[in-house]
This record gives sequence, C-alpha cells and structure tokens, in this order.
Amino acid sequence: MNAEPRSELKCIDCCKVFSDAAVNRCGCGGLLDVVVDIDFLKEKISRELFDSRLGSTKFPYMSGVWRFHELVNPLIREENIVSRSEGNTFLYTHPKISEYTQIKNISLKHEGENPTGSFKDRGMTSGISAAKHLGKDTVACASTGNTSASMAAYASLAGMNSVVFIPEGMIAFGKLSQALAYGARVLQIKGNFDDAMALVQASANELGMYLLNSINPWRIEGQKTIMFELIQQLGWNPPDWVIVPAGNLGNTSAFGKAFCELYDLGLIDKIPRIGSIQASGANPFYNTWKNHLKKLEAVEKPDTIATAIRIGDPVSWQKALRAIKHTNGVVEEVTDQEIMDAKATVDSSGIGCEPASAASVAGAKKLLDAGVIDSKEKVICIITGNILKDPDATINYHLSKLLDITSRFNNPPTLIEPTLAAVRKEIT
Ligand SMILES: *Cc1c(COP(=O)(O)O)cnc(C)c1O
Ligand SMILES: [Zn+2]
Repeated sequence: MNAEPRSELKCIDCCKVFSDAAVNRCGCGGLLDVVVDIDFLKEKISRELFDSRLGSTKFPYMSGVWRFHELVNPLIREENIVSRSEGNTFLYTHPKISEYTQIKNISLKHEGENPTGSFKDRGMTSGISAAKHLGKDTVACASTGNTSASMAAYASLAGMNSVVFIPEGMIAFGKLSQALAYGARVLQIKGNFDDAMALVQASANELGMYLLNSINPWRIEGQKTIMFELIQQLGWNPPDWVIVPAGNLGNTSAFGKAFCELYDLGLIDKIPRIGSIQASGANPFYNTWKNHLKKLEAVEKPDTIATAIRIGDPVSWQKALRAIKHTNGVVEEVTDQEIMDAKATVDSSGIGCEPASAASVAGAKKLLDAGVIDSKEKVICIITGNILKDPDATINYHLSKLLDITSRFNNPPTLIEPTLAAVRKEIT
C-alpha cells in the first residue's frame, strides 16, 4: 500500500497531468484541478475523524479549514501551514429572513466571520501554505478588495512580500485600508477588475511572483471547506440548496468539487443543488447558463453596487458551469435594488453583511418566487463578507443617497436639541 496519496494537478481542458504543485495554468491555457486521491483517502478519513477534531484547540485542527487537512492538501506538513483559525462560522436563522424569502427552513452561513472578514481567508490559508511549502517569497493577486485584504494579512504573517493589483476607485474602503495596513504593495490599475486580472497574470511569472488568484488551484481546495464545515454542522445531512453570490466563480467551482468529493468518499448520500447568483449589471455567467452558450461572453463594463462581484470576465466560469451541471444547479441574477433590500433585511436581523453577500438572500427569494425552490426545502445562503467592509454603501442607503436605489427599509438618524423634551418627543 502507498504511504502517501497521489498529488497531481490536471488540466480541465486537455486533461494533461502535472506533478509540479506550483503550476497555475496548463500550456493550452486551461485551468487546473487538484486531483484528490479518493481511493487512498477513503481508508483514512471518516465522519468520526472530522468530528473528533471539532472544538479542538490544537494547531492546525482548530481551523475550520485544516480540520479537513486530508481533503485540502494532504502532502503539506504542519510547519508549512499558515493559519489564523479560519472558519468555524455560525449558521443563523431569523424569522425576518424566513418572512422575507418565504422560505421557512433557511439559514445563513456567515463567512464574514473569518479573520479578515470574508471567506477569502479559507482559500488564502491554503494558498499561502502552498506558497510556503513551495518556497515562494513573493505572492500577487488581482482583487476587487477582499482577496487583497486576505492575501496581505496571510503573507505578512508568513513573512512573505505581497503585491496586489486593484481597480482604481472601485474598491470598498474597508478592504483597501486592510491591504495597506497589513503591508501589501498596492498597485492601483487605471482600469477595472478584469484589466487588473489580465495584468497580474501577465506579470506574475515574468517577475517571479506566485499568483494567488482563484485560478490558483490550492485556493479552491481551501474554499471547499465552506461546504465540508456546513455539512458537518448539519450532522452530515445535506440541505436541498446552497445559494451563493457569484463573481469570479471560485466559490461556485469549489462547492461543486466539495460535494462530488464528499459523495465519492461516502460522507454524504445526496448532493445539494447550487444556486449561483450574479448581479444583473455583471451577469456573464447567468447569460452563459441561461442561453446555453458554448463560451462565456464577457460583460464589457460590469456595474453593480456589490463591488465584490463587479466582474465581467470571470476566470473560473468553466469549473463553475461544471459545478452547476453536476449538482443540478441553477444560475440567477438580481438587481442592485434587490441586493440592497436583502442586505437591509439581513442587517436589521442583527446578522449584517456587505452588499455582494446579500445577493444570496435576494437570489433565494427570487428562486422561490419563480417556483424553482419549494417553500418547504432546506436552504442555506452563504454570507460572503462582513458588514464593516463597505460602510459607504450602508450609510448612503440609510441616508437615501444611493443613485437609482429606493431606500425601502432605511433607518436614518435623527438630529435633535440636547434637551429632555426633545428626547421625549422622539421616544414615544
Ligand atoms: C470574492 C467575493 C465574492 C465572489 O466570490 P467568487 O468566488 O469570486 O464568485 C462574493 N462576495 C464577497 C464578499 C467576496 O469577497
Ligand atoms: Zn491543457
């Protein structure tokens, strides 16, 4: 018997196999998948093994990513793991959310509770640990904000240099401030996210930087654990639906891969359906799926208040399409008005999220209205980012200052004289 699992990367287009874990893209241009050695791992892992690590204070099992070490990167040694105890994020239910979506059994998994405030930390602990394992000293990414915040933090923690490429003036302040503060070299590109993405891919190899965008297959391996952890939280009983905001499509891809692996490993006996939700101003994946296009047609000028999903040319669309097909999933789009209405509902439930995250809740409501989701089904919405990431969007909503958005559920402050009488007049 082999002492170690096979570890290979495989091109999703031409099926070429690579044993070098540092390769990010096939010569043919295709994206790479990490091949998980199901037969080997089947003997090593079980629900009981993962349950025995729950609540552990021991490194690295205290992390909701590394609790699933064998399924993330089995060859990586403990001394190369760079972790901030990711995951272990809460599942919220609230009558307001059920009433809003008309789905009784709906829960929100809050990935904004990760160390830097978004799910990106799950892929980043995996990506930076791979970088350390491979002996890299400089990492780079293009980002709408959260990837750069996360990469900057993990790189500094690991003693690496980081370079982030961000679109000029289209990044939420919470995210930009994190990237600067955590010590990344920040390059603002005179262009949008898609321009930044093209530029970082063109310059990373040339300048010896290890690329940590979600085309990096190890990032996807970390993001699978959102689903591993969810299924474990549910006592290994899969829900009917998982609804997720969709931008560059790393999560949609990772969730599909996670479900296939759990199923093949015998850890679940049913595969949940994925609902992948785009903003209608940045909806190339929705168009591709709805119109059965063979190839993704990029949206030239993506536009949405949800900056985290303001992406016109998503890099992982093929993997994501495969995930939708494998899970009998659907793709939907929601308007900025629907996103901000849903956000106000999530926020005023005491849960809170950044605009892009609310696309999942808005999408669940829309799929219920369309008769795709049944009101009795069990639905999980992924909340991707923390409410503090984009205070401008929140404040301007409550002050009714957002262009083309009706602040239907706003809660503006009231200015009063500093007298008891004035307070009495307000509080009645
Ligand atoms: C990155 C991000 C997304 C988009 O996720 P993809 O995997 O790129 O589809 C959505 N919401 C938030 C808050 C994000 O940071
Ligand atoms: Zn190839």
